[in-house]
Amino acid sequence: MKLTQDQVQTVIRRINEVSPHGIVCPICGQRHWNINDVIIESREFQNGNLIIGGESAIIPFVSLNCTNCGNTILFNALHLGVVNRNTTNNNVENNGR
Ligand SMILES: [Zn+2]
Repeated sequence: MKLTQDQVQTVIRRINEVSPHGIVCPICGQRHWNINDVIIESREFQNGNLIIGGESAIIPFVSLNCTNCGNTILFNALHLGVVNRNTTNNNVENNGR
């Protein structure tokens, strides 16, 4: 799912709130990040089977990648407030449980 400009601004605001001095890349030490403009997801491991829907948990993420080395970090999109848990399927998890 593509992030809207409002959602991108929400991501920037929330990250600045929790890390007001900037996020230092643990690999190269720089503080320059690119916000990927899509929400990605991680699915509950189901022993190699792909379960769509049902009781299988899904965690939505916004990813940032370091512009210097490419290291990628993930933020829970529910926690950032760009995915509303009240309007998603019941199997979308909050903070990975
Ligand atoms: Zn880096």
